[in-house]
Amino acid sequence: MLDMAFASNLGYLMNKRNIFSFLIAITGMLMVLISGYYLFLNPSQTPIQRVFVASAHGLAQTDPVPPINIDVPNLGVISTPIPILMFHYIRSVSKADDPLGYDLSIEPELFAEYLDRLIEAGYKTTTPAQFLTGKVPANSIILSFDDGYTDFYQVAYPLLSQRKMTAVLFAISGFLDDKDGRYLTRTQVKTLSDAGIEIGSHTVDHANLAETDTKRIQDELLISRQVLEQITGKRVGAIAYPSGKYNDDTLRLADYVGYSFGVTTEPGIALPTSNKLKLPRIRVRGGESSEDLLSSIKRLTTVNQ
Ligand SMILES: [Zn+2]
Repeated sequence: MLDMAFASNLGYLMNKRNIFSFLIAITGMLMVLISGYYLFLNPSQTPIQRVFVASAHGLAQTDPVPPINIDVPNLGVISTPIPILMFHYIRSVSKADDPLGYDLSIEPELFAEYLDRLIEAGYKTTTPAQFLTGKVPANSIILSFDDGYTDFYQVAYPLLSQRKMTAVLFAISGFLDDKDGRYLTRTQVKTLSDAGIEIGSHTVDHANLAETDTKRIQDELLISRQVLEQITGKRVGAIAYPSGKYNDDTLRLADYVGYSFGVTTEPGIALPTSNKLKLPRIRVRGGESSEDLLSSIKRLTTVNQ
């Protein structure tokens, strides 16, 4: 009797439909365990990266981005005052074609003249990462380019390269490879990085970091950094806050997620006493002659020293 019941239960268990359900259940459990491991327990990620990878959805860059481990400490010193120039487009454009972008654009010939005048005046270009080593000459200058427009690759970089000058490019990670070709491609970013241009972050989608909630600020800062690190294979330690907007949370989180160099749009030059995450810049306007630019750099340097 007992044997009969057992055999009949066994027969029931071995029923094909039940075996199929059982296999589905086991597969589901395995998938939950494996994804749980990668999202929350993966030992190659630091605790903060785990949290951000898990909460990466909802931004323009929606793919969860596995972090790469580049073991460079978030350190650095400002040993000497330094002017940080701020550029956007280097291109010829008419006001009618791009009313908003016109004031952000500098004619290529004028840009080349700026570079030659800076060299004549004895300035040596450096990057944020080199600068934070504290081992740069006193006549150093940083040229920074916001937004990551294609003309940086086509126009500005060749002019810099001919003169053996360097720069930092603040790219918007979620705008790369846009269908209109206004922004750089990932391949161009990688080429520039390999050629010695430092790639910094300008967030995922040019968010206003003074008016978004804390979680969004975290995501903007960290995801853009991870995406750019994946493209370049180098540590991304510099950030330019979009439109120069930030608040106390932005500065705290920028430090927390590993930035060691942050620039605003406030006018001035960076000093050894400056907060490394709140460095002022000198905005270069389209109509400015190279003499005007040189004298405003000198004036700010003298005022600040
Ligand atoms: Zn911008």
